[in-house]
Amino acid sequence: MDLELQPLNLPGIENKRPLVIAGPCSAETEEQVMSSARQLASKGIKMFRAGVWKPRTKPGGFEGHGEIALPWMQRVKEETGMLICTEVATPKHVEAAMNAGMDLLWVGARTTANPFAMQELADSLKGIDVPVLVKNPVNPDLELWIGALLRINGAGIKRLGAIHRGFSSVDQKLYRNTPLWHIPIELHRRYPNLPIVCDPSHIGGRRDLIAPLCQQAMDMGFEGLIVESHCNPDEAWSDAKQQVTPDVLDFILDRLVVRNNMEMTESLASLRKQIDEMDDHLMDLLTKRMRVSREIAQYKKGHDMAVVQSGRYTEILDKRGAQGSLCGMSPDFVKKVYEAIHEESVRQQMEIINK
Ligand code: PEP
Ligand code: MN
Repeated sequence: MDLELQPLNLPGIENKRPLVIAGPCSAETEEQVMSSARQLASKGIKMFRAGVWKPRTKPGGFEGHGEIALPWMQRVKEETGMLICTEVATPKHVEAAMNAGMDLLWVGARTTANPFAMQELADSLKGIDVPVLVKNPVNPDLELWIGALLRINGAGIKRLGAIHRGFSSVDQKLYRNTPLWHIPIELHRRYPNLPIVCDPSHIGGRRDLIAPLCQQAMDMGFEGLIVESHCNPDEAWSDAKQQVTPDVLDFILDRLVVRNNMEMTESLASLRKQIDEMDDHLMDLLTKRMRVSREIAQYKKGHDMAVVQSGRYTEILDKRGAQGSLCGMSPDFVKKVYEAIHEESVRQQMEIINK
């Protein structure tokens, strides 16, 4: 099925990569909203984000102030001239957000994953002219993401875009949400005119990953970036670890290399994407291997066995060394890799044995 699209056409924002949306994860207090917004505006940011309604994993966390926070967002618009946007998940949110003069709405990952919620949201957008960005669902399901986009588009929203925020996975890993870049890239292949914005904050979950993820997104031809930026990130009420100050964001954006000759970079980017994905797989596999190794430690503990059984270790090194040569790698390299893996494995087993 096709999408009927028009450019996002955001007043006062140049149609040039990257479109940058920045602001705190949540609107916490009027002071925090205004201070973050003023600093971001002074760095030239043109669109301000803040979560007013927050979907939290467990009850009891800060779930956003709801409508109380809307006048703070209006004040941002009046005093700084920035455009404002927030997440909507229900028809009530849409109505309140539109009454507050939101310039753009986004749909969160948990909502995209629910077709009933998406249809209700789409129905409530009928007859409203507002740009909408749809985040990927939490699970790596491209069709579900496309389905959500189709529902919103079916309601007459043509100024439509997507946000790539990564996908949740079972094992602990480098990223908070694994990027699985091939999914947004396939979305782009199927709908070349659909703008895709990268959300490095929710992918990375860590401040130090924001800059490399922004660069990767630009190298792959993403249209924009939505980055969480807070006047005092350490004290943030939600997602503290991934928020950066407006100063740091400015530093990151300043150093971003944006190449518009995508013809040249596309093949390189696609090769790099393959490498990144393989590294993600390697990390996933290593995580799983460590988990099994910890299970073995539990067994050894229960049976009063020693952690290192040298026969088994030699067997692994010999077997993999030989396999390495067959695959065109130096046996020495393979040996080093396995020594390092074994060392970490023993360290993790010791932690369990000594508990
Ligand atoms: C957010 O943008 O703060 C948010 C809740 O994101 P996501 O829906 O991607 O988890
Ligand atoms: Mn957040």
